[in-house]
Amino acid sequence: MEIKLDYKIDNIEKRLEIVKQICEDHEDELTPYNLEQLGNYLIFQMEKEERRKRKILTPNRMVTINKRETSFEGVASKFDKNKDGIYGIINEDKNVILSPKVSITAKDIAEIPFIAQIRESIKKLRAIPDKNYIVQQAIIDLSQTQYIIKDAYLKPIRSKNNSIAEPPVLDWCSILDFKDWNIVKAFLHNYSKLKTNSDQKIQTDMFWILQDFEKLADKALQEREPMLYDIMLYKIMNMQNKDIQKRLEQDYGRTYSVEYISSLYNNKIPKLIAAEFEKEELLYHYTFVEKGNWKKCNRCGQVKLLHSIFFSRNSGSSNNGFYSICKECRNSKKGVD
Ligand SMILES: [Zn+2]
Repeated sequence: MEIKLDYKIDNIEKRLEIVKQICEDHEDELTPYNLEQLGNYLIFQMEKEERRKRKILTPNRMVTINKRETSFEGVASKFDKNKDGIYGIINEDKNVILSPKVSITAKDIAEIPFIAQIRESIKKLRAIPDKNYIVQQAIIDLSQTQYIIKDAYLKPIRSKNNSIAEPPVLDWCSILDFKDWNIVKAFLHNYSKLKTNSDQKIQTDMFWILQDFEKLADKALQEREPMLYDIMLYKIMNMQNKDIQKRLEQDYGRTYSVEYISSLYNNKIPKLIAAEFEKEELLYHYTFVEKGNWKKCNRCGQVKLLHSIFFSRNSGSSNNGFYSICKECRNSKKGVD
């Protein structure tokens, strides 16, 4: 899109206001070229003000200023040294590229080796104490060449019609298999970052995956393992192991080493969540996909899936090779005995 900017405004706050307004009104229409234009609109004014205040410039900013000074030098040299204007005509096409559209950044120097070489040469030429006309002209030519090179490198993405590329769409549901406890562990470690990034973005997969994950983690730990549940929350809140240790002492009256707390978070907790997910997936499968074998437990009376997750195997049993009471009942019976 075409942006009209008032270059007569010489106050950075006012320019910033204008830029903010444009960004708000045309958020989706701005091309990379527009953004550069807006950036320059601010930077140019800032440079003027900073030079007035004699502030120290960062290396990157220095490059932008050098560029503008080079441009000025180029124009001035034509009038001072070549009154017939011949050189002015020769250099005309190069000066087009010097219109303040691009600047050489540290990234360019790192990524485009030729630019680094040119800058080395410019430095050497600048170090010559008594620069004659030829040396000065060489500095100007080399300075301009680096913009021509950058322009050539950037051509594919500097087209005015190109908008900023969309990030790739990832099928998180298939990537994040929560049956794998290592994936659960990685997910826990990145949980707060993912949460901040996707909060309120209900159109994204990640928003819903996080909702599911929260339900899953609650189910796996909240009632059955309240202490592990607390540890998980403290870790997500980025609390230090030392502080978690103190909290556990207060709340549960038990002292654990920081190493043990760390291993609970990196091992036991993700394993319990992964096991819960496996169970959920199994129940889903034998409820909605395939007809499963379900059995009523002889003790608690609950109907459970006839699977080694819910019933222990018993080779001597007539019950399809499983005990007639569920695993939970068997475990609590052991506890009583
Ligand atoms: Zn039972």
